[in-house]
Amino acid sequence: KSFADMKFPRCVIKALQKKGIEKPSPIQMQGIPATLKGRDMIGIAFTGSGKSMVFILPIVMFCLEQEKKLPFMSNEGPYGLIIVPSRELAKQIKDNIDYLCKFVEADGFPELRTCLAIGGEPVATALQIIRKYLVMDEADRMIDMGFEEDVRTIYSYFKAQRQTLLFSATMPKKIQNFARSALVKPVTVNV
Ligand code: AMP
Repeated sequence: KSFADMKFPRCVIKALQKKGIEKPSPIQMQGIPATLKGRDMIGIAFTGSGKSMVFILPIVMFCLEQEKKLPFMSNEGPYGLIIVPSRELAKQIKDNIDYLCKFVEADGFPELRTCLAIGGEPVATALQIIRKYLVMDEADRMIDMGFEEDVRTIYSYFKAQRQTLLFSATMPKKIQNFARSALVKPVTVNV
């Protein structure tokens, strides 16, 4: 399967090509179609596998679809939240999303905005309205770093009707149990 087979618009494919991303990596091949269909997912993958695009591309597509349904100039977001264990990773993911958004906006799609929440800034207010799309990246590292309580608190703000993706390089019992309680009939992709 190519990115075109996955029905991404040309501007997205062009944006990926400019970054040297021509062909989906194995985790993208397995993970993106299921994510686009709205399935929950457990991704067992390391950095370098291309795992970030498994949630970045579907989140961008999801936001564009939601915005398309709205009356002109209204907005309803935020549509999703991505939680990660480090500022660097958060920054990197934001940059990747902003990069794609620039391309889709230039092609006439709705403008999307991202927001980086780091360093203990209060995000609880915003969280009450982000109930649709949750990604937890590097879940094992978040737990190792002692963020389990924070992750559970954030997760408790979300409604049952959401799409949840959990990525982790390793799957210790703790994460398996968490995934069992947080995800609904997840697809597991393992590369
Ligand atoms: P990640 O594993 O998501 O952190 O991605 C690691 C690096 O691989 C990033 O620099 C991506 O831009 C790059 N990358 C992601 N997907 C692909 C792909 N399908 N082909 C080539 N490079 C990719």
